[in-house]
Amino acid sequence: MILPELRSANTAGRVLEITTTTGCVVGCSYCPQDKFAVRQRKVSHASHLDLEDFKRCLARVPTSVDIGFAGYSEPWLNPDCTEMVEHAFAKGHGIRIFTTLVGMNGQDLQRLQALRLGVFVVHVFDDGTYMNSRLVGDKYRDLVRQLVDADIPLIRFVALGEPHPDIADIIPTEALIKARPVSSRGGSVDPKIVAPRQPVVGALTCVDARQYRNVLLPNGDVTLCSMDFERRHVLGNLLYEGYSALFEKPVFREIVDRMNGADGFLLCRMCEFADPNDRT
Ligand code: SF4
Repeated sequence: MILPELRSANTAGRVLEITTTTGCVVGCSYCPQDKFAVRQRKVSHASHLDLEDFKRCLARVPTSVDIGFAGYSEPWLNPDCTEMVEHAFAKGHGIRIFTTLVGMNGQDLQRLQALRLGVFVVHVFDDGTYMNSRLVGDKYRDLVRQLVDADIPLIRFVALGEPHPDIADIIPTEALIKARPVSSRGGSVDPKIVAPRQPVVGALTCVDARQYRNVLLPNGDVTLCSMDFERRHVLGNLLYEGYSALFEKPVFREIVDRMNGADGFLLCRMCEFADPNDRT
């Protein structure tokens, strides 16, 4: 989620986002989920991040790193997601949640309410323009209602496009942010939906230092950031190596060199978060 309106909610600092599944039924047309699934299935048959594997990976991550439940698919499509959140919270990590609520139930919500969440963003279903509105039914409406009534501090509801008419009247107007799809995900989104940017030439800066907001995949691999749906920069694997090792190996060093202007492929050149250092 990268809307300018949410930048204030998305506080600075290192983050590890968790992709809990390979494949996603929500099927937002501005999400290159299929490209991620094709690339990921070539290297791993793990369709879900196993709870014990998550715990093993997390044990290697310093508690100063926030844990984000977002990644390349809807986090609650993994039935262990709430337990993962509770585990990360108990270990002392800051928690950031970005969810459509698909896969979540009332009990999950009650368990989440008991935690102190740094960021809680609900991606509200749209009117069917970009999302699969058959997932909006009585249960979903009840869950949104439960969430609104829970009055969770800092919660934000975001609709990309017009909110679905069956839920628009449940969410208080002042709590709803309306926006449009704005990111091509480094050029991975269908260009008819979000046109890719002009590639950045030379040295550049990631405006949010997202090279330190990496993504854990169901097989333990870690990719550069939430734009890297196609696994273009895999930093390492937390099942087999420590967190700091991810940033000491040639893959990450090359990324830094290329951000400083060296030759070679760099996803950032196609990314809306990249600012050219030389603006002349
Ligand atoms: S500029 Fe690079 S590190 Fe930053 S979000 Fe884009 S692809 Fe990721």
